[in-house]
Amino acid sequence: MIHDQNSDLLDEVRAEVRTWLKENWQVNLLLGEWWQLLADAGFAFPTWPAGMGGRKTRREAAKVITEEIGRAGALGPPGGVGQMIGGPILLEFGTEEQRRRWVPALAAGAESWCQLFSEPGAGSDLAGLQLRAERDGDRWVVNGQKLWSREAETAERGLLLARTDSSVPKRKGISYFVVDLDQDGVEVRPIRQMNGRATFNEVFLTDVVVPAENLVGALGQGWPVAQASLMYERLEVGGGGVLRPARIASPGRRGGMLDRRISDLVEESRRAERERPVVPGVRTPAAMTRLARDVGKNQDPLVRQRIAAMHAMSEANRMRVRQARAVRRRGREAGPEASMGKLVSSELGREARDISLSLLGAEGMVTEGDITAGGAFQQMALSVQSLSIAGGTDEIQRNLIGERLLGLPREPEVDRDAPFHQLRVGTQEKEPDDSGAGPRR
Ligand SMILES: Cc1cc2nc3c(=O)[nH]c(=O)nc-3n(C[C@H](O)[C@H](O)[C@H](O)COP(=O)(O)OP(=O)(O)OC[C@H]3O[C@@H](n4cnc5c(N)ncnc54)[C@H](O)[C@@H]3O)c2cc1C
Repeated sequence: MIHDQNSDLLDEVRAEVRTWLKENWQVNLLLGEWWQLLADAGFAFPTWPAGMGGRKTRREAAKVITEEIGRAGALGPPGGVGQMIGGPILLEFGTEEQRRRWVPALAAGAESWCQLFSEPGAGSDLAGLQLRAERDGDRWVVNGQKLWSREAETAERGLLLARTDSSVPKRKGISYFVVDLDQDGVEVRPIRQMNGRATFNEVFLTDVVVPAENLVGALGQGWPVAQASLMYERLEVGGGGVLRPARIASPGRRGGMLDRRISDLVEESRRAERERPVVPGVRTPAAMTRLARDVGKNQDPLVRQRIAAMHAMSEANRMRVRQARAVRRRGREAGPEASMGKLVSSELGREARDISLSLLGAEGMVTEGDITAGGAFQQMALSVQSLSIAGGTDEIQRNLIGERLLGLPREPEVDRDAPFHQLRVGTQEKEPDDSGAGPRR
């Protein structure tokens, strides 16, 4: 009976979104117009509140909405750090005023945000961060450096972790802010990667001003907010999202796409694809199967066995990520479960790299010219190692799983309770540390 009511409800949602798409989706709309329509209808981020891009639906209904958007060939909602992490964080920890100020803009893709967490001396040991925010009347003044910040070059705002009190232990004096990046004192320098792209940056902040009302959560209580951010990031990386954000368009005014016609963006992406074909889901078992067929090795029993094993692991992971979401919905922290999903997805990435390169043989060493799938597998092979670093390394996920799921003893951490100013941390001052202390990503 409950099941029937539930499926009736989903059928109603499906019918509603189909009708709405028929009436509203047009490829000649401007990108910003379309995303605004999607948000106003509550179809952009369906689980978010009404008036903020959603309609507070359950995940099953959100999935139906995503499916229908895909089936209609319509463009999905905006994607990016702001939408995947910023929105959920504001809904969970922000004040009502902060939600009203920022969430609708994120939902409609009007803003792009980045994550300003890591520093040269604070990656795995994130709680060792040194960037300072000092109170000056009704504002904070920020000085320091961040590193590896994706999309910072076009982001309007950043989710910033800053030290606001050095006299307390390292996790207690951290605060979480939303910082406006379009101001003097913000310098963004791109970092060139081995795949030839520059998708992340160093960010230098010198006397950058943050209004007091941009503090998210309580003063000095940024650590749990940071942990929740990392959990949202890991769930996304681990494949737990139901949304299918637009691949061909990025949000935010500074990105310059909002005033462009969707048809032009589609055409541009097709042209780019002709030059360098995109293999959908290039890391999935399905892509491995297609590649095996294309190179005539799909009857090789060893290849078949390897792809089948990958498929089994991928399915098990999908279910595990679903379980992590369910844990979160029941109000418990889903940290270790999210860590499992993330760890397995970096393992799957490596497996995809190794299977595809072995199928390609010598061609796996070539990235240009008339090559299989335009070099998509080679590009993937050059990028996939980032999965085991971004959002917390594999080793850190293993530590979290060991300590929090398996109940193994905690890593020794000699600096846990000492006031931060008594520690010698960071790139200049750090002493060799043979204690194995303190990874907290
Ligand atoms: C593609 C990509 C995108 C990123 N995007 C962002 C972003 O947008 N914003 C942001 O703030 N950061 C971002 N990061 C940074 C990322 O979070 C850090 O790189 C990561 O947390 C690791 O920190 P680190 O690079 O300083 O390595 P380190 O912490 O110096 O680690 C070096 C090595 O030591 C190991 N290690 C460290 N401590 C321990 C321990 N206690 N036990 C066992 N092993 C340990 C690590 O696993 C690793 O192998 C991104 C990184 C990548 C690759």
